[in-house]
Amino acid sequence: MNIVVLREKQKGEARVALMPESIKKLVALKASVLVESDAGLAAARTDQDFEEAGAKISSDRDHLMSQADVLAVVNRPSSDDFRKLRSGSVVIGFLRPLDEPTGLMDAVTGGITTFAVELIPRITRAQAMDALSSMATVAGYKAVLIGASHIPRMFPLLMTAAGTVPPARVLVLGAGVAGLQAIATARRLGAVVEGYDVRAAAGEQVKSLGATFLEVDLGGIKTEDAGGYAVELSEEAMNRGRALIAEHARTTDVLITTAQVPGRRAPLLVTEEAVNGMKRGSVIIDLAGSTGGNCALSKADEVVERNGVTILAPTNLAASIPVHASQLYSRNLTSFLSLLIKDGQLQIDMNDDVVGPSCVTHQGEVVNKRVAAALPVPVAETPHG
Ligand code: NAD
Repeated sequence: MNIVVLREKQKGEARVALMPESIKKLVALKASVLVESDAGLAAARTDQDFEEAGAKISSDRDHLMSQADVLAVVNRPSSDDFRKLRSGSVVIGFLRPLDEPTGLMDAVTGGITTFAVELIPRITRAQAMDALSSMATVAGYKAVLIGASHIPRMFPLLMTAAGTVPPARVLVLGAGVAGLQAIATARRLGAVVEGYDVRAAAGEQVKSLGATFLEVDLGGIKTEDAGGYAVELSEEAMNRGRALIAEHARTTDVLITTAQVPGRRAPLLVTEEAVNGMKRGSVIIDLAGSTGGNCALSKADEVVERNGVTILAPTNLAASIPVHASQLYSRNLTSFLSLLIKDGQLQIDMNDDVVGPSCVTHQGEVVNKRVAAALPVPVAETPHG
């Protein structure tokens, strides 16, 4: 079976779906790996590195696609690319199944089986495949570095002959994977850090990293679902959170927001009024920009200025650290692919509790009920749909 890796074409993308170290593992599983020439260059891997790992290199993109049993991608292929794949072939990557379900219509009509890494269940068995966590880790780290280099101050407390320099203050909203990594990174750089989340469990994690947890009285309402994700809150509960955030934002130098509710628009946590109350020179880095943003003034991938406060909403920070982001992602994909490869052949077991739930389209049908609900196609009956 042929696993194909192409050069990612999306603007600003520097990651590659599989790195040479993973290719060795896939070759050991008796798969052939075909890589488009220069696919790894932006992630500091040459064609020679891939060849030494056992891959074959080609610059004929269309030919590679026609040979693919599995196409491993970072970003969802374009319509044109989907049409070049054979019916029955498999595509795996960040496919945005819930944000942009119509982008997978070409997979339905082309009879292509798609697996979205966003849908890989967060169960213990699938931890090594958790690409969302890998990319959130990179983004949370990078957000702090951007914040630190942007503000007109230093991060740590310094006692110098010229007097004391007070530490920077960092506020992190949303203490999931990205938020906790941001808190840990800001602490390492010496900032005084506060964290906020609606899930009570996040409080202990924030404190264990040496940050202060901002508690808001939400009247004991349910804030998380059975899977450990936050649920959408009432407007009244949201307003209590917003008031607390606005109060703490006044003294913050770097405000990093990471709050998400799966399948919904990102919650609005930082109002225009809260931004107006912030110090000149402070910066907001909104990591929820791709789902609408946590700050009322954020514009995805744009720089917004308001009274000396800068608001950034980068949507693909993981691509700005392409070596480690690709390494982590490549390991995630390889763990997942090892579930699909038996004796060097592609074998899809839809009853598997990781494979089934991650599948979006299979044999010309949408097999995920949430995605199907958003598309004008009938949903297939599957064990996990
Ligand atoms: P996410 O990206 O969906 O959201 C980020 C954070 O935003 C979450 O902590 C969420 O509680 C918070 N949030 C949502 N609405 C909010 C609001 N109105 N105000 C403040 N904060 C709000 O989350 P994630 O980082 O993907 O992780 C979510 C959960 O899943 C966490 O409990 C995490 O520990 C858990 N998790 C488990 C595994 C695993 O077991 N394999 C892997 C990764 C994450």
